[in-house]
Amino acid sequence: MLDKETVLAALNTIIDPMSGQGLSDAGMVRALIVSPERVGFMLEVPQDRVTQYGPVRLASEKLLARLEGVTKAQVVLTAEMAPNPQPQKQASAKLSERAVEDSRPKAPVAGVRPNHVKKVIVVGSGKGGVGKSTVSLGLALGLNALGLRVGFLDADIYGPSAPVMLGVRKPPEFGDDKLMVPPEVFGLKVNSVGFLVDPDQAMIWRGPMASQALTQLLTQTRWGTAEDPLDVLVVDLPPGTGDVQLTLTQKTLIDGAVVVSTPQEMALADARRAVTLFGKTAIPVLGVIENMAYFVGPDGAELEIFGRGGAQKMASALKVPFLGDVPLDPALRKGCDDGRPFTAAEPDSEMATRFKIIAERVLAEMK
Ligand code: ADP
Repeated sequence: MLDKETVLAALNTIIDPMSGQGLSDAGMVRALIVSPERVGFMLEVPQDRVTQYGPVRLASEKLLARLEGVTKAQVVLTAEMAPNPQPQKQASAKLSERAVEDSRPKAPVAGVRPNHVKKVIVVGSGKGGVGKSTVSLGLALGLNALGLRVGFLDADIYGPSAPVMLGVRKPPEFGDDKLMVPPEVFGLKVNSVGFLVDPDQAMIWRGPMASQALTQLLTQTRWGTAEDPLDVLVVDLPPGTGDVQLTLTQKTLIDGAVVVSTPQEMALADARRAVTLFGKTAIPVLGVIENMAYFVGPDGAELEIFGRGGAQKMASALKVPFLGDVPLDPALRKGCDDGRPFTAAEPDSEMATRFKIIAERVLAEMK
């Protein structure tokens, strides 16, 4: 079986143009993944060297693809952020070939919302798998049901889910103004990191590249126009409290953050960190939503599978609002898997009403 040592030795036969050493010895092989079928790594180079490293990326990918047992080889070229970016055309990995052209000059100045967007809400969680995407979408649909013009940006680089949840696979087209025109589904204007890259690739993105992609999605999407502005843009953030969240929150004016957690202690500990992160960046924490709070059994009894009320207690301890709870409901899961969100398909259901109430509370907290 292929192992990391073999891969590193093979990559050492390619010369790093900056140091003249083999790529591995030069420390250029980052985030190496060697799995039974896939081999890949990240080539992180200074901004002004990206073009020079294009052929190195290609050569590395070819070499990896020839190794025995490899069916997929992938080398992602990413540019480190330069401290004083020059307004020059840069090429950086796959994104730059399509959506990313000339992004830097248009990068937002701190404290600015995307054009024609009145409010930006981010939805975060301490960890993955707590239902952040499901709840973000429910919130966006709830706001839409209240009569607002709503956008939904799936910025979860580790697991973009909007294309599946909303049943849209086709990436947005580019308008004459070179902006992406977001598809409109279930009343929402949608864009997703999942439209820009192969979801397998997204996993190995790191800081600068990921932040750059998210900034582009925010600022180079035609979310609204002067005649038809967006009332609210809901951003489904990646889980956790890392650099990506921080950069995004520093680059864009954000009107409030919502934190999703399940009631378990483990999830709550992480959610506390998320609340603290937003607090530190001076983003108003609009409140906490408890997901998977309970399950209604066939006899109508409410089963508290992960415990219940933990998020509410946490919210009160941290002195932030509690926005509501969402039970475990197979229909919610199925709707997401089928690309037909349950609350949009069943607007009169108890679940849809629940999300409308949560949306009302969110709006009230933003005033
Ligand atoms: P995250 O964005 O936090 O990683 P997701 O929203 O992708 O989490 O949810 C993880 C899984 O749990 C998905 O399959 C989703 O459909 C399911 N899920 C989330 N919330 C609920 C809920 N309240 N009831 C039933 N299934 C849910």
